[in-house]
Amino acid sequence: MTQFWSSIVHELTPYVPGEQPRIDKLIKLNTNENPYPPSRNALAAIRDSADESLRLYPDPDATSLKSAIARHYKIQTNQVFVGNGSDEVLAHVFMGLLKQDKPLLFPDITYSFYPTYCRLYQIDWRTVPLNDRFEINLDDYDDRGGAIIFPNPNAPTGRLLPVLAIEQLLQRLPNRLVVVDEAYIDFGGTSAIPLTRDHDNLLVIQTLSKSRSLAGLRVGYAVGHPNLITALERVKNSFNSYPLGRSAIAAATAAIEDDNWLQETRRRVMDTRHHLSRALTERGFEVLPSAGNFVFARHPQHDAAKLAQSLREHAILVRHFNQPRIEQFLRITVGTDDQCEALLNALDAIFSAQ
Ligand SMILES: *Cc1c(COP(=O)(O)O)cnc(C)c1O
Repeated sequence: MTQFWSSIVHELTPYVPGEQPRIDKLIKLNTNENPYPPSRNALAAIRDSADESLRLYPDPDATSLKSAIARHYKIQTNQVFVGNGSDEVLAHVFMGLLKQDKPLLFPDITYSFYPTYCRLYQIDWRTVPLNDRFEINLDDYDDRGGAIIFPNPNAPTGRLLPVLAIEQLLQRLPNRLVVVDEAYIDFGGTSAIPLTRDHDNLLVIQTLSKSRSLAGLRVGYAVGHPNLITALERVKNSFNSYPLGRSAIAAATAAIEDDNWLQETRRRVMDTRHHLSRALTERGFEVLPSAGNFVFARHPQHDAAKLAQSLREHAILVRHFNQPRIEQFLRITVGTDDQCEALLNALDAIFSAQ
């Protein structure tokens, strides 16, 4: 009964998230979830929040969470915006800040939600090709475009830009808004957040879904000049005054404050990434250098789509993107050492059967 659809609905291309299987015997290395549990303090905060106060609406400004984020990064509370996952934060950024006269610029290979939001909000965009080593070259982002958005490290390639390159971009294009999506920054990069003090054209977005092991909670945030934050608050308060519930605010606040657990788990993920990259290279894969909790790899003798299917038959899920330039790559989330071992054993079995 599509006759009732708004015309824009016909034009949308919804984002397709990685599979969340209903059977739990599968080893999930397909959606970049953290294999380690969230901070115990965050879980305790959820339990403590489960009382009769749930009868009341939450704080619409999530002040305790914004304060924790501000303390953590040594910035002001009015430089922080929070939302229901960084995908929602991104949606408000696209609607409130990235729809400009000139087209939005982003890499040809990047987070596939960006073109989806452009279609939703009818934003004109241009893609800028990664170089042949799958790196973003910020010199290719010139004055012909409007705003700029890219993840750092980039997804799904995992390749990292140094903060210095971002600082040079901000200086070269002081009248262009630059949005850096730092979903994976804790796994080996340096955040651009300190640059927001001196550059009012920078907005940095982070999430609790990856390095803080809280994908199920749905909390993300943006950091930037208070004027940028005000724009996002205006959009948010025209959409949903309470994007974060009481439990989410309490747990996210506790998770941000538990830096020890972040340091412990990110170290484990980075160590396993190192071993996994080496083991895949030994098996003939070309593995891009990754600063994320995933690796992006291709094998010269094995078709990526077939390999993903064979791994599935071994109860291991990885992500394959059927997209030009990267159709021979697999994106493999860094799991526990045991999960990565199971992946390598499955690959050995697949290769020796051929
Ligand atoms: C996972 C991811 C997000 C979304 O994270 P949520 O906070 O779970 O919505 C945003 N950007 C990139 C590049 C991601 O990989």
